[in-house]
Parts: sequence; structure tokens; C-alpha cells
Amino acid sequence: GAGSSTGGGVRFELEKETELRFEVEAGERVQLELLSGLAEVFGSELNRNKKYTFGPGSKIAVFTWQGCTVSLTGKTEVAYVSRDTPMLLYLNTHAALEQMRQQAERDNERGPRVMVVGPTDVGKSTVCRLLLSYAVRLGRRPTLVELDVGQSGVSVPGTVSALCIERPADVEEGFSVQAPLVYHFGSTTPGTNIKLYNKLTSCLAEVFSQRCEVNRRASVGGCIINTCGWVKGSGYQALVHCASAFEVDVVLVLDQERLYNELKRDLPHFVRVVLLPKSGGVVERSKACRRDTRDEKIREYFYGFRGASFYPHAFDVRFSDVRIYKIGAPSIPDSCLPLGMSQDDTQLKLVPVTPGRDLTHHVLSVSCAEDEGTGPEGGAGRRGILESPVCGFIVVTSVDTQAQVMTVLSPAPRPLPRHTLLIMDIRFIDLK
Ligand code: ADP
Repeated sequence: GAGSSTGGGVRFELEKETELRFEVEAGERVQLELLSGLAEVFGSELNRNKKYTFGPGSKIAVFTWQGCTVSLTGKTEVAYVSRDTPMLLYLNTHAALEQMRQQAERDNERGPRVMVVGPTDVGKSTVCRLLLSYAVRLGRRPTLVELDVGQSGVSVPGTVSALCIERPADVEEGFSVQAPLVYHFGSTTPGTNIKLYNKLTSCLAEVFSQRCEVNRRASVGGCIINTCGWVKGSGYQALVHCASAFEVDVVLVLDQERLYNELKRDLPHFVRVVLLPKSGGVVERSKACRRDTRDEKIREYFYGFRGASFYPHAFDVRFSDVRIYKIGAPSIPDSCLPLGMSQDDTQLKLVPVTPGRDLTHHVLSVSCAEDEGTGPEGGAGRRGILESPVCGFIVVTSVDTQAQVMTVLSPAPRPLPRHTLLIMDIRFIDLK
């Protein structure tokens, strides 16, 4: 399906149930326009004669159920039409979930809770986006639960979160993130602290269930849970934990038969485990590419996304005005643990951090935890911090140990809304 070049760009005629896949070259932008017919990008419909712009490195599929003509302007790395897509299977999956919602409505039950799993780069996030957009287009109010701490679609990396979906994803920008519920994890792989990861999964499940009790639409809408690509060992155990914490009804396994068989064996029999193929369009991303995406996500948090520019603030914070913690003490051999203490306790321990030069460039989460009771011997307060959502993020841009102050980049002007800060392994170098 090579396109023909016209004045503005390259035209592509797509037959029904085919998709145009393209990748934007580094440092370039590509404009997409629907000239005739109907088409969608990952479940969101395109408007005719509107120009959609995609930034460097974007990997996009324009799918049509009925047939269409589109044009592309700008430098693409690749652009080709494929007839071989699993979209029909994904649509059938959506239809089955919608039936479950209808049944939930009739029987005064709750709607489907769906976990999407598979190794990295099989299109998990894309399938989540598709299912959520299709559901919301039918008037449902599903919840996206984002457990991928490496590539979060909702907040900055190193977090887990939940977001009520009220409209389809924007073609260019994805889901609008008005008021997500975000928890601090602190690193880009669950393996850094699997106890904490599982605990946060349980926290999100609890909050979601509470919401379902008071909000019928949320309950019927159910949730779509996006997970990490780490599917072995503790990563696998984390998936099993998630399934039980959320009491999931459906597990969609992308591309890996072994994982599918393991989950069928280990999950209760009433959980429907479904194996789905991955799309041939999903592109494998290099480590560097993932790092760039993470960086970009943090930059967006502070500086906004194209259309909406934000102007972050820089100001000094006195060490004495904040309490900085790292979650999890380095693990020590069981034989060396103090009597009555388990490895769990060390992984969930709040370790006070003395600010120093090495804090520079680290991302810090500002915890919503109330400031009182967070002293070094805060007891109950300490538990509260782990389970408290975060209200925002700052980046340390410099540290002056002499003056006992650090300069931070913050989305809002001083003062900080709260004074309990949690340090991430993740660094962001602000080049602006
Ligand atoms: P995962 O969540 O499993 O890591 P993603 O859903 O993030 O995978 O997909 C990886 C990349 O592939 C993303 O950049 C996404 O935009 C792209 N992609 C997904 N499906 C297609 C497709 N059918 N054609 C082209 N690119 C796609």
C-alpha cells in the first residue's frame, strides 16, 4: 500500500479493516489528515479535514472499519498499509466486556475488572486505550488503572495511578488527565521494591472498590488495568497479587502462551483468561527510546504539552522546612535482622534522607500526607505516608549544603503544599 504523493503530502487509500502504520522520524513532525471515509487512531475517531500533528518518534496506526483516504505530511521513518491486524479480535473483546456491563446493570452487579498483561512491547497500553475509548464512546465510565511504573500513561514514571475515563483519548495527546489518583513508587521497575509495589496495588484496589460502592457508573464501567512487562518471578507474582487485589474477572494475555497457561493454572477458575495476539504494528522500543519517553513525560509535567505550555517555578526550599524520605532500607541478610523484624519491614520502611549534593536532579514526590505525625518517630504517621497519594512532583536543581537550602523546579509557586517529600531513583535534567 504505497501512497501517492500530492501537493501537500502523501495520500493513502485504505480498504475496510486495514490500517496505515507510520513512525515519525527523530526531530520531525508529521501531520495526518482524514480526507474521506471514517478512521480511528487507537479507538479515537478522526475528524475529517482536521490536521493532527505527531511528534518525533511517535508510532501510530490509523485503522478504518469502513475504508477511507488519509494524507501524511512530513518525514516518516516508515509508512505502510497492513491488512493483517488483530483489531477484529480486540473489537470482539470490547463487545464481550460491554455485554458484561449490560448484565451488571440489569443484575445490580459490578462491571468487568480487566487486567491486561504480557511482556514489554506487545501493545498493552494501546489495547487498554482502545478498550477504554470504545467503552466511553458507548457512554460508560471505566477506570484506567496504570501499574506500569516504567511507562506510565497517566503520570510521571515511578508512579502507579488510577484515572476515571470520561471521554475518548485525544488523538494526539491521549487521555486527558484532570484528577488522577497517584501514588509514589520511586523507580521504573517493580523489582526495586516488590513489597511496596504490591502494597500500592492493594491501595489502588481498595480506593477503586470504595468508589464503586458509592458510584454506580464507576462500578458498572469497571476497570482496565495496565501492567508492567516483567512477567517472570516476582513480576509474575505481582500479576497474581493484582488479580486477587482487584478481584479481576478477565485477564487479557497479549502474545505469550506460556504466561497464559501459567495464569490459567494459578488464578481461580471463574477468572476468564484470554490469549490475544499482538499487533504486527507494535514496534519494539530500545532502552534509549524508553528513557527518552520517560524524560519527555517528566518534561511535559513541568512544561506542558504543545498546545498548553506551563511555566514552572524555581525557588529555594530550606532543609529544615521539609522531611525527605526514601522508601525501603537496603535489604540485609535475614540472620542480621533485629529480632521480630522481617524483610517486609525493611522494604516498607521510611528512611530519612539527609539532603546533600547527590540529591541534585532527583525527582521528589510531594506526599499528600498530613504534615503532623511525620516526625522521625512518627509511628502511625509513617504508615500513613506510604499509603497517601501524592499531590505533585518537584525536581531538585541544586543543593547548597552550606546554606542548608535546595533549589527546586515546581509546577506551582512557593510554598510547597506539603512538607513530606519522597525521593525517586529517577533523575531529570532540566535543560531549559
Ligand atoms: P506496551 O504497553 O506493551 O509496552 P505499547 O502499547 O506502549 O506497548 O506499544 C508500543 C508502541 O507501539 C507504542 O509507541 C504504540 O504507539 C505503538 N503501536 C501500538 N500498536 C501499533 C500499531 N498497530 N501500529 C503501529 N504502532 C503501534
